[in-house]
Formats: sequence, structure tokens, C-alpha cells
Amino acid sequence: MPMIPAVRGTRDILPGEIERWQFVEDVARRLFERYGYAEVRTPIIEREELFAKGTGDTTDIVQKEMYTFTDKGGERITLRPEATPSLVRAFVEHSLEQQMAVPKLYCLGPMFRYERPQKGRYRQFHQLDVEVFGVHDAWIDAEIIDLAWSLVSELGIQGSELLLNSVGCPVCRPAFTAALVAALGEDVKRLCGDCQRRAATNPLRIFDCKVPADQAIIDRLPHTIDYLCAACTAHFDQVKRHLELYGISYRISHRLVRGLDYYTRTTFEILIGSLGAQNALLGGGRYNGLVKALGGPDRTGIGFAAGIERLVLALPEDASIAIARPDVFVAAIGDAARLEAVRLVKQLRSAGFKAQLDDEGRSIRSQMKTADRLKAPLAAILGDNELTKNEVTMRDMASGEQTSIGRADVGEYVRLAMPRVKPPLEAAPRGQ
Ligand code: AMP
Repeated sequence: MPMIPAVRGTRDILPGEIERWQFVEDVARRLFERYGYAEVRTPIIEREELFAKGTGDTTDIVQKEMYTFTDKGGERITLRPEATPSLVRAFVEHSLEQQMAVPKLYCLGPMFRYERPQKGRYRQFHQLDVEVFGVHDAWIDAEIIDLAWSLVSELGIQGSELLLNSVGCPVCRPAFTAALVAALGEDVKRLCGDCQRRAATNPLRIFDCKVPADQAIIDRLPHTIDYLCAACTAHFDQVKRHLELYGISYRISHRLVRGLDYYTRTTFEILIGSLGAQNALLGGGRYNGLVKALGGPDRTGIGFAAGIERLVLALPEDASIAIARPDVFVAAIGDAARLEAVRLVKQLRSAGFKAQLDDEGRSIRSQMKTADRLKAPLAAILGDNELTKNEVTMRDMASGEQTSIGRADVGEYVRLAMPRVKPPLEAAPRGQ
């Protein structure tokens, strides 16, 4: 039978790499919770219209990248390409603002986009997503950016850069769009087909273009921040002042319009050079009209999404990640000892230790080899001699030193030995 491979653009995350994912997820959860965020889990499937309306039907995501199908009931269903519209839907559907003083939400899980797969870009990928609803003040923009920055730095990721921009609001956007179209003039005919379409439907999206031949023209176009209304200018100034308060440096990037239609005012991204072409670790911004556009009250929103694959790729080689290994390997010689070993393993597991047993009744030599391969720091050895004396031989796997202890004292021995024999954190092999 030929093997059935995984779908293009999807991948298995295997032991050896999964520890790095768990590390990223643990650091993120603890950090988000310190900042007052509560986890929400929304479904992976949503109605197609949620993204057509939410993400925006002139965006690349909606036009080219969504996995949408008609289910058996005739409903148009989409595998979520991003989390923000789903969190907005949940916020509205469950009137979360009545239950939470400041709705600060986070979620994590798989997203789906039909993109050309390459390093750091997949068709099923995973995001950590953070959103806050109902806060107008610029301090929250800076706090969210501080949260994103802290995530990257608490993961020990070096060499990242924060990009910042403001894309204005419905008051100032029309003047900017008009200036953009005017500045393009006849050059629009020299742009790619997508950009010509964007110029007619949603000119701001021209900044998303990646076609090399278009870049020189796009680089000469006007900047959103030169067209901000007074309120947007004041907001942007405040965001920058607060970032200085946090001691976070940034670079203004005029091209940062973030590929989605719902952004207003602040947009930001954190990039890292070491990832090559797919260099955005995370990105986000403010979206003041989205909650209302999705049928909710007129509430502001702001958030960001980080790609877990990219955070994992960017982790330092020597990140402090505990590798999966047992605390104790229980070895047994002979049938009677094997029965006692089963009891001992169960007892150790119940006491909270990671304990493993030889599954196949092999020789003591090969059991010790297995203990080494599993990197267990301790082995508990049971044989006829130990059974007669009601003892267990404890072996320090690194030094080879052996000690006999009473059968009843094993749990306590392991507990006391743990900090001695087991460094709490250890680098895991780097995943590909
Ligand atoms: P976006 O929702 O496009 O702003 O993406 C937010 C973050 O998700 C990006 O900065 C990436 O880290 C990650 N991301 C987006 N698309 C992909 C993809 N196809 N594969 C892997 N990560 C992705």
C-alpha cells in the first residue's frame, strides 16, 4: 500500500519539536493572564459571510485564500483564516461586555489559508490572538504593543523590530485615498492586474502588493500619517508617547496597512530578520468599526495575532525548554519483581512523578540502556533480592551510584533526589 502523505502546506508537529510549541504556549498563556486576558475557544468553522464582512471582501485572504465549502445542509462554511472576526462574533453573540468589566480576550489554535507554502508559511498554521473591546484611549494601543513586545522578549527571541503606523479613520481616509489615486495617476497602468483592481475598489490595499516590479511606484505614494485628521494625529502622538514610557523603540513604516480592511488608526508588526521572507512574527492594530459592522454595539477593538510556527522558528537554540523524559525508570528482574514494578510505577505516577516501566521483560542490561535512551535521571531496580528484603535499589543514572532503600521510602527518595539529579530546564533538540 502506498503511504498517504499529509496535505500540502500542513505538517505534523512531532515529539522533539512539540516541546518548543508547549514552551511558547505556556509562556504566552502565563503572560496574557498576567495582563488580565481570559481565554476563549471559538469554532474552527464559521459562516463564510463572517469573513467576507469582517476580514473584508476586497482582501487577498477573502478573495484568494479561504477554504470554503458548502456543507450537506447547503450552508457556506469557511475554515477560519484568522481569529479576529470569530472573537468579535463571540463578543457580540454572548454580550460579553455585560459579563466582563473590560473584555480582554485571547485564543490560540489553527488557522487556514490557501497560500503558496514555504518556510514559515503554511496552509494550516497556528496563531496566538489577543483582542480588547471597548477601550478608546491610546494607552491600550501602547499596552497591547507592550504585551506583544513582552511576548517576544520573554520567549528570549533576539533581533526583532517593532514597526508602527497609523492608517487613519473613516474621517481622514477618503482624503488619503483621493491623494493616493491622484498620486498614482497614469502609473496605475504600469502596476500588476491585482493593483489595478485594488485602485478601483480599495486603493489602500495597493500597499499589500508584493510584486517586485510594482514596488518602486508604491514606494513613491503618499503616506497615511500625512493625512490624519486632528483626532487621529492626537491618538497617534499619545501611542508614541506611551511607548516611550514603556521604553519600547519603534520604526514608523508608511507601508504598514496590514492587509485587512478593518484597521483604523494604529497598526503594528514585529519583524525578525532571521526568518527570511516570512519575517513577520506578529501583527495587529485597532479596528474601531468592526464590532458594529458585525452586528454588535458601536465598540472599538484592538488586538494582534502572532504566528506560533514563526515564534517557534525564532526561539533561540538554547531556549530553556524542559524535554519530555521520565523522572524515574523502573526496572524489574523476574516475574515477581515485574508485578511489584507495576505497583511501584502506579504509586509514583499517582504521587505526581513521570515514571516508566520496561514493557517487555528484557534483560537488566537492556533495561538500563532504555533508561539512558529516555534520559531518565533515576532508575528504581527490583529483583528477587530486593523483594525479599522489601527494598528497592535506586540508581543515579549519571554517576552509576546505587543505594538500597526501603520499599516504602521510594516516593520520598525520588522527591528529594529530583532537584539534585534533574536540572529543571534543559534545551530540547531544535525542530525543523
Ligand atoms: P495576519 O493575520 O496575516 O496579520 O498574520 C498574523 C501572523 O500570523 C503573522 O505575523 C504570521 O506570524 C502568522 N501567519 C500568517 N499567515 C501565516 C501562514 N500562512 N503560515 C504561518 N504563519 C502565518
